[in-house]
Amino acid sequence: MKKDIQPTFYTDATVTCSSCGKVFKTGGTVKELTTDVCSNCHSFYTGKANLIDTSGRVDKFKKRSAAKIEDYQKTKAQKKEKRRDSKIKKANAVEDES
Ligand SMILES: [Zn+2]
Repeated sequence: MKKDIQPTFYTDATVTCSSCGKVFKTGGTVKELTTDVCSNCHSFYTGKANLIDTSGRVDKFKKRSAAKIEDYQKTKAQKKEKRRDSKIKKANAVEDES
């Protein structure tokens, strides 16, 4: 093994899970590290679906999709109204002819 090129290996590196707060020790080249998910809270191990949303992406998506749904419902209502108006116009035109 070459000297002075190998990183320090800590046999008691502390890992902290930011989702569930579990702390455990492992070997590593850094003394402390944090993780978003661990074996204690990952859905693969727990069998429950859970969302890890540290940057607010899910919230952003929900906001965007809610706005789109609202727009869609508005245009749908407008189209319905237009269609009804044109039907009334047609009916009036037929009445005028006879
Ligand atoms: Zn965890």
